[in-house]
Amino acid sequence: MVTSCFAARYRQVSEQVADFARSYGRAPDDVAILLAVKTQSAEAIREAVRSGARLLGHNRVQELQATGRDLQEAGLTAELHLIGPLQSNKVNHTLRWASAIQTLDRESIVTRVAASLERLGADSAVARLGRESLDVMIQVNTSREASKHGCAPEEALDLAHHVSQYPNLALRGLMTIGPLTDSVKDIRAAYATLARLREEIATSGLPGAERCVELSMGMSADLEPAIAEGATIVRVGRAVFGERPSP
Ligand SMILES: *Cc1c(COP(=O)(O)O)cnc(C)c1O
Repeated sequence: MVTSCFAARYRQVSEQVADFARSYGRAPDDVAILLAVKTQSAEAIREAVRSGARLLGHNRVQELQATGRDLQEAGLTAELHLIGPLQSNKVNHTLRWASAIQTLDRESIVTRVAASLERLGADSAVARLGRESLDVMIQVNTSREASKHGCAPEEALDLAHHVSQYPNLALRGLMTIGPLTDSVKDIRAAYATLARLREEIATSGLPGAERCVELSMGMSADLEPAIAEGATIVRVGRAVFGERPSP
């Protein structure tokens, strides 16, 4: 098995994603790959970006910050998304480096992000990118597992309403982590819930609701059910980088 060359594995996963898209009647470039780069070395991440990866995600703010700095030093550019939980004391650090936050899940953190972004001004990543607003997503706990972050499905529309009050935040979509189960039926049900909620928000008439187009769902183990249910961003780690060392 060829496992050493990042570019080859990345190409393989890209082809698999495109094949799944086609087999569910979707355009192959409808589904973007976000590389989940947690625990990867700076060198591995640089190689990924040099090989064409444009969308990177980190769970932890500290790692996100380190990657942001490292890529800047190397003169490389990529979109950095926060895909892990956000605590209010980490908001400033996040905004300096993240071009998007996928994990807003409560009103207080939305308010905090909007206010901090305003205060940071030119020091935020979005200002450096020349954008007027930060792309955000609402994380929904579609499987209602106690161990998972995210708002309850019935709270998503209210939270979208709260986000829409801030002109410096652009609600781009919804994100979820699929249930930890072998049941493809249960996995698809969770992803179908996210798709239904996105539709509800997009057609709600809220200001900016028409920009709420993304469904960030699906990881290495469940790409197919996610793409079947309409994922537009899949978050892939192990399928490209191999197994992570256990913590
Ligand atoms: C690690 C992680 C992924 C990628 O998981 P893999 O199983 O390595 O593909 C996706 N999303 C989130 C939020 C993660 O933390």
